Amino acid sequence: MIKSFYINSKFNKFNFKTINFLSWIFFVGILCFLVYDNFNPETKKNDNINSFVENFSIEFFDVGKADSALVRFGHHAVLIDAAEKNSATSVKDKLNQRGIKKFDFVVLTHPHSDHYGQMPEILKKFIIKYLVTAKSGINSHEKSNFKKIIRKFKKMKIPIKFVKSGDIIKIDNVVFKILGPSKKYTNINNNSVVMQILYKNHSFLLTGDMEKAAEKDLLNLYSGESLKSNIIKIAHHGSSTSSTEAFLSKVNPKIAIISSGKYFNSAALYPSTKTLSTLEKLKIKTYITEKVGSIIASVIDDKIIIKTEKNDVSQNQDIEKAA
Ligand SMILES: [Zn+2]
Repeated sequence: MIKSFYINSKFNKFNFKTINFLSWIFFVGILCFLVYDNFNPETKKNDNINSFVENFSIEFFDVGKADSALVRFGHHAVLIDAAEKNSATSVKDKLNQRGIKKFDFVVLTHPHSDHYGQMPEILKKFIIKYLVTAKSGINSHEKSNFKKIIRKFKKMKIPIKFVKSGDIIKIDNVVFKILGPSKKYTNINNNSVVMQILYKNHSFLLTGDMEKAAEKDLLNLYSGESLKSNIIKIAHHGSSTSSTEAFLSKVNPKIAIISSGKYFNSAALYPSTKTLSTLEKLKIKTYITEKVGSIIASVIDDKIIIKTEKNDVSQNQDIEKAA
């Protein structure tokens, strides 16, 4: 009994010491966390710095013959392409006006300047968690200034996520499904990141500048209804290089957005009459930024509401509940 008591007592003493030691470790841990937290304001305090958007919306900025679209939901913001450097519209100003300070991620669909031109400006002013682009795109364009931008991201230690068909990015209840590129093409446009954004039962297809070859590969790769989208951002500013009837029929959108207009000081060469007649034939309601200014597609309750920048009430329209 005595022996046993002695052992127990030693054991209790040991336990007491261990608990003391663990408490001390815990205390130091908490202290380190508080110090770290104070010295790292960006990691914690900026998580909710964007103005809150109750519903999901995509805004296609009027940036001439170029692309730049802002996706917002909750405190989240995603930028898809950054327009041309000398565009009449400053994407930075548009973002400031909307209270954007931070992006969950930024997508550069492919290495053409009408998609990445204002990126250096944006890199200076906004916090970007990571960049999304396609590796095949970079490799196919050796001389591009795009490589300089990629280097800038690396220098700033902003991670780069190289995506391809089948990848998925999920933030809250929004899914960014990467449909393309499905392989490496020699044509840079075909290497565009093609992304289908899914929110509730709504879908938005963003196509970069992909051309017919990439559209055909997507048709082969995605069977059934998986390409079907309520809204499509028409590829390559409405050029006849893209938007085959077969592809648009499969996507079967209610609304088409064409990001097109002046290119530097020249008149717009896009969209092509061929693309416009295909859209008309398929009875797809089409909005062109050159005509209506920036276009916002918002999901409110179970409807998608389209609003345009220029005061043209007839352009504002509800589209029916997603099928
Ligand atoms: Zn383009």
